[in-house]
Amino acid sequence: MSDPGLDCRIGVYLCHCGSNIAATVDVMALAEYARTLPNVVVAREYKYMCSDPGQELICTDIADKKLNRIVVAACSPMLHEKTFHNVLSRAGLNPFYLQFVNIREHVSWVHQDHKAATAKAMDLVRAATRRVALHKSLEKRRVPINPNVLVVGGGIAGIHAALTMADAGKHVYLVEREPTIGGHMAMFDKTFPTLDCAACILTPKMTSVGSHPNISLWAYSEVTQVEGYVGNYKVTVCRKPRYIIEDLCVGCQECITACIYKEGKTPDAFNQGLSKRKPVYLPFPQAIPQKVLIDPDACIEFKTGKCKKTCVEACAERNAIDFKQQESIEEIDVGAIILATGFRTFDAQRNAYYGYGQYKNVYTSLEIERLINASGPTSGVLQMRDGRQPQSVGIVHCVGSRDQNTNRWCSKVCCMYSLKLAHLIKERTGAEVYNFYIDMRTPGKGYEEFYDRLLDEGVHFVRGRVAEISDWPAHPSEEGKLIIRAEDTLAGFVRRIPVDMVVLSVGLEPKADARDVARLFNMSCASEGWFLERHPKLAPVSTFTDGVFIAGACQGPKDIPETVAQAGAAAAEVMALIDAGEIELDPYTAYVLEEHCSGCKTCIPMCPYGAIAFDSVKSKASVNEILCKGCGTCVSACPSGSINQNFFEDEEVFAETEGVLLHA
Ligand SMILES: Cc1cc2nc3c(=O)[nH]c(=O)nc-3n(C[C@H](O)[C@H](O)[C@H](O)COP(=O)(O)OP(=O)(O)OC[C@H]3O[C@@H](n4cnc5c(N)ncnc54)[C@H](O)[C@@H]3O)c2cc1C
Ligand code: SF4
Ligand code: SF4
Repeated sequence: MSDPGLDCRIGVYLCHCGSNIAATVDVMALAEYARTLPNVVVAREYKYMCSDPGQELICTDIADKKLNRIVVAACSPMLHEKTFHNVLSRAGLNPFYLQFVNIREHVSWVHQDHKAATAKAMDLVRAATRRVALHKSLEKRRVPINPNVLVVGGGIAGIHAALTMADAGKHVYLVEREPTIGGHMAMFDKTFPTLDCAACILTPKMTSVGSHPNISLWAYSEVTQVEGYVGNYKVTVCRKPRYIIEDLCVGCQECITACIYKEGKTPDAFNQGLSKRKPVYLPFPQAIPQKVLIDPDACIEFKTGKCKKTCVEACAERNAIDFKQQESIEEIDVGAIILATGFRTFDAQRNAYYGYGQYKNVYTSLEIERLINASGPTSGVLQMRDGRQPQSVGIVHCVGSRDQNTNRWCSKVCCMYSLKLAHLIKERTGAEVYNFYIDMRTPGKGYEEFYDRLLDEGVHFVRGRVAEISDWPAHPSEEGKLIIRAEDTLAGFVRRIPVDMVVLSVGLEPKADARDVARLFNMSCASEGWFLERHPKLAPVSTFTDGVFIAGACQGPKDIPETVAQAGAAAAEVMALIDAGEIELDPYTAYVLEEHCSGCKTCIPMCPYGAIAFDSVKSKASVNEILCKGCGTCVSACPSGSINQNFFEDEEVFAETEGVLLHA
């Protein structure tokens, strides 16, 4: 057993955390017990140790009782370790003479038996006092921060974050996977609850992004590699070929008119496949950048090499078309990253009983957004595939959401966008509109009022989950109609409602590649696949990777106001980081005991952060302190025990382990 030394004077501080800890752990008994432990000079309990008086208690004791080691047993160190490091610094002690014990998450929140919980808390406090006696004084490292920022994803979240930072003088690289920025919002005609024209509020922002001197907009591009650490990331971006030289193209679209295809033949993804486009195309009229691109899978020149290339002729003056263009790789250095990669909508075919893909008049909400959009495939006229306008429309809420068989979560925006679509459909066609809902969720500003407005407009509401959509008529008048069968939980019976058109209000899901993107940026996803924030309340746009922030619907379902607010918050966090000029890094790094290292190189491939190199002059491994994240993998991998880690020295870990085991 390690000897803590005679000059060690420990103070133990036990927090009730209101009733969070005190309701399960007998904090008074814990304090009594702590006073009996070797080298403990004082042990105190307090209702909120993190409060100013709580902190003051520790400061005063350090001075009065000449304490040189502190144990705080409280809530999660993630929340308050820094608070107490600051207390020690203020009192003139090295902050790493602190040992934090989590008796909330590790004890009171996970146990009900008060006696056993108190005994466990005693074990952990005892272990901490033995460990803290061996702590060494450590120094934080300081590194400069690169002031440039990377934003990934050019939906409304990425656009707003990029503009906020660019206006504040930061240089922003905005990388968007698609050929244009705009994301989902660019597809909408109107936005709830105010029914603003989406293009009218989004297009000016998109144009500003395209022309901002502080923004490098790289559309049709993807991040392929990320190296480095907070303040100093090295990012590799792959820029896909548009087969158009962006600097020369003026977006006149004469090449599109001149293309030998008189009509488009390829389903237009932006219009949800409801129209066709040519091989050379602009994704939508307000696209930014206003540069066309050529789809090699559809272009005759790419497929046969024998096209007349009428597009090239049309562009002779500018000479912007380049069939030989290759993908290019760019490397950029940035200090911080904001991920704003958004969401995808639920695939309605997964709920086969709603007939999507089977009945031609069953549409998804995104398809309707395009059909009612003035710049959409029908110039805003809501018509079905046979050209008829619907006389009756059923809107089915919660498709794929709040369902144990698909997605358990509420997609948050579907109630409101269903109301918006109900209003627009009624306004444009005069059809009878039926909304089938489970609950009506309208918690935003002005949202409940919008619901009231819809009730006044004569839209019908049926509370109950739709069981099935079929085309089986029970009566000749129902021929050619879609029959919606739903339980009406207010009226207490099952209803059959025949309609011309069905709109499925599909829910929001994480992007298919969200986990790959998370891995690329060294972050985590929650169980459903949404990017995980550092703390849902106190750090909602931060991640566990310092310098990487998240904004918008990549973190969970969100409407536009919430997305914009979060994007602003992420931009502010980035600017606070950058404007500090330099950053402090924790000293929990590994180091090599050169005299013991045999140069076997086992540790080098083990390090997930590429922080270990081989010093060929000395024939030893060496750790780059800046890159090391203190994960400890190399320490456990080294066959000769030649790597140690600050704050996790063998003697400290053994003393703590022995302290816990003394209970046995
Ligand atoms: C049918 C429907 C109607 C809606 N109507 C409204 C409404 O009226 N009002 C309202 O407030 N909200 C509405 N919403 C919600 C709204 O769509 C979201 O709040 C908003 O789009 C979220 O913006 P975002 O930027 O986070 O994500 P997105 O709009 O999804 O944008 C994400 C962007 O990131 C890009 N991207 C993704 N992965 C990568 C990658 N790896 N690299 C580079 N780029 C990447 C995508 O191509 C996309 O451009 C509606 C949603 C739906 C489904
Ligand atoms: S490629 Fe040439 S013709 Fe086509 S939009 Fe650009 S400038 Fe106009
Ligand atoms: S090469 Fe031919 S098919 Fe391809 S975009 Fe030009 S004209 Fe159209």
